[in-house]
Amino acid sequence: MLSGPSGVGKGTVVAEVRRRHPEVWVSVSATTRRPRPGEVDGVHYHFVSAAEFDRLIATDGLLEWAEYAGNRYGTPLAPVQAQLASGRPALLEIELQGARQVRARAPEAQLVFLAPPSWAELVSRLAGRGSEPAAVQERRLAIAQAELDSSGEFDVVVVNDDVARAADELVGLLTAPSPGPLPGTGAHE
Ligand code: 5GP
Repeated sequence: MLSGPSGVGKGTVVAEVRRRHPEVWVSVSATTRRPRPGEVDGVHYHFVSAAEFDRLIATDGLLEWAEYAGNRYGTPLAPVQAQLASGRPALLEIELQGARQVRARAPEAQLVFLAPPSWAELVSRLAGRGSEPAAVQERRLAIAQAELDSSGEFDVVVVNDDVARAADELVGLLTAPSPGPLPGTGAHE
């Protein structure tokens, strides 16, 4: 599972994973936010109404969910379960609150933190998003600082110094054998 501060390029790295490694299964989140130009329903997100999102929560249809910048985002549970049942890895790109829920619900999940090459780089990427008022940018920076402070909660840190390199490193982690001992093997250690 990939998380990290906003502006660090999680979406870009996952798009690169899809492009370079089409064999990797990427979870499609549900969201109440409106599609951006070029986003396709069912591909980038399942774009749902607030009522539909309420129903997903009520029927325990989400592995995790969180509110972010006024919209709700969540990981549909059934497709992830089906993927893992087939013995293959699943890649989730989610923000910090959701990553903590997955950690609590599935302690064996590998949490990957995508870090910016430097704080200055993150500031310039957030500012580079452009049109927002200074107060909104300040708020994003404060959130980004708190998110950066959380990197110690993660199993691995991948630095997004180069999108293609970071995507390859992420895929390498997905396909590598699990770092933790498998159930039943701990007695020998
Ligand atoms: P955006 O609106 O830019 O596509 O996404 C905003 C934030 O929501 C990003 O940090 C993204 O990682 C996060 N996000 C996307 N899907 C999910 C999800 O299913 N669950 C959670 N918790 N966060 C998500």
